[in-house]
Formats: sequence, C-alpha cells, structure tokens
Amino acid sequence: MIINRIEPQGYCQGVTNALRIINEALKSNNNIYSLGSIIHNDHVINDLKEKGVTTIEEKGKSRLELLDKINSGTVVFSAHGVSPLVYEKAKNKGLNIIDATCPMVHLVHKKMNEHLSLGFDCIYIGAKGHPECEGVLGISDKIHFISNIDDIKLLNINNDKIYVTNQTTLSIYDILDLFNELKNKYPNIKIDDKICNATTIRQKALANQPKCDLCIIVGDKKSSNSLKLFKVSTLIAKVNTIFVDNVNSLNKDMFNGINVVNISSGASTPSILVDEIIEYLKTL
Ligand code: SF4
Repeated sequence: MIINRIEPQGYCQGVTNALRIINEALKSNNNIYSLGSIIHNDHVINDLKEKGVTTIEEKGKSRLELLDKINSGTVVFSAHGVSPLVYEKAKNKGLNIIDATCPMVHLVHKKMNEHLSLGFDCIYIGAKGHPECEGVLGISDKIHFISNIDDIKLLNINNDKIYVTNQTTLSIYDILDLFNELKNKYPNIKIDDKICNATTIRQKALANQPKCDLCIIVGDKKSSNSLKLFKVSTLIAKVNTIFVDNVNSLNKDMFNGINVVNISSGASTPSILVDEIIEYLKTL
C-alpha cells in the first residue's frame, strides 16, 4: 500500500500556543478549569484531565452559562476566544484568568470592535453554536450573523458602511460564494477574509492531493477545521474520504481493494494519532 501524508500536519500556531499556556499554568497551579474544551480534541482533553485540568462543558450551554459552575481557582479561556461579557463575569467572580485565545481570533475581535466604533454595520459569517462565533457575537448585539446564502437574502441593512468578516476555520471555497453574494447585494461592502493560514494551507493541499483510492481525515468531530478538511476532500477534490478519530475507528475490511491512501489531519489533531494510523496501514 502506498501512503501519502498530506502536509502540513501537526498543531497550528494557535493550538500550540494554547497548550503551552495551559501546561505552563499547571506547573504552579493544580486548580485549573478550562471553560469549554481548550481545543477540540478529546485525546488532548483527556490527557489534560490526568494532569489536573477540569474541562467545564455541557451541550447547549454558552461559555457565559458554564462560568456559573466555576467559583474559585483559575479559569482558562480556550483557543476559540470568549466574549467581553465572559471576561467581565470571570473577573467579577474573582477568578484568576488565563487567556489562551488564538491570536487570529483576537484579531477578529479587534477588527470587529474597530468597525463597530466607526459606524459600520458588521456582518459575521460562522457556524451556529460554535464557541468562536459565540465569542465574536458577544461583542455586540448589533452584529448580523449569517451562516449561508439564505441568511444573506434576509439581511436588510441601510448603511453605506458595511463590513464583513468570518470564523477563522471555515471552508475557503464556501466563503467565496458567500462573499460574492454579499458583494452583489451590497456593492460597497468591505470584505475582510479572516480564514487563518493553517486552515487555508491544509484545505488547498487537500484540494490538490495526489490521486488515491481513499483519503483519511484524522480529527475530532467537534473540530471545525477538521470537518472542513473532510468537506474539501469530498466535494472539491471529489475523493473517496473517511473521517476518523483515531486508529480504533479502522478495520481491515475498509481497505479491500485500496492501494493508495492519502492521510491528512486537523490543526488540533495530535501527530501521534496520525502516526498510529500509518503504522496500522503498514501492517495491512
Ligand atoms: S486553526 Fe487557525 S484560528 Fe484556530 S487555533 Fe489554529 S491558527 Fe488559530
């Protein structure tokens, strides 16, 4: 079997940064709460749990609500960022705050704040329910949130100054359609594409992947950037693709008649999970 590791792989800068911050905090503190998953990968969360980090997460609950469950100690804000309200609430509760927000997400917050204060109507493109969106939308209730073309049809903005930016881990291919549709509706709109470099490079590499019989995307189902890799491989490269958490999701029967396998992974996927899959494939 030929196995092509599609580069780049391994942690992106934002994930590396978040893990460095939380591991550094663990050296002097063992009462640490992560507000939501520090990054979207269960393997990493379980590892941090063993080291003493309690992750506070509950489906359907916002970061602001989850904060009610932390009454003392240190709270870490995840790489996805939090809204100013969360920051304020944590401060008022007297918690020791450690901010592991990715610098790319910080930049989106900064740009959004700047444009709101300059009188722009601001549009934000993202996936409903994702913590990164929750953080940005919490900046102001005046931000127009959209996820798809249908949402654009519902927009009714009367302002010469309109600004649009986006969640950092969207598909570079989907967002072009959305930007074009917005440009048609609002010709003077200021478009500020903030899909991060780590996401862009991985998606382009997958779109141009070498010919194969099967492509494997390794990631966590909660990871937006990993799920987009699956989408690009399937819909843009039009390759037979599977999405797996780790080697345990594979079995021999899946590889009948498969001679060439490409493998890629999300920006929050530990390299060891990819290495284990490659070792398994070599045994087939
Ligand atoms: S995927 Fe991009 S935005 Fe998300 S943590 Fe990594 S660098 Fe930051």
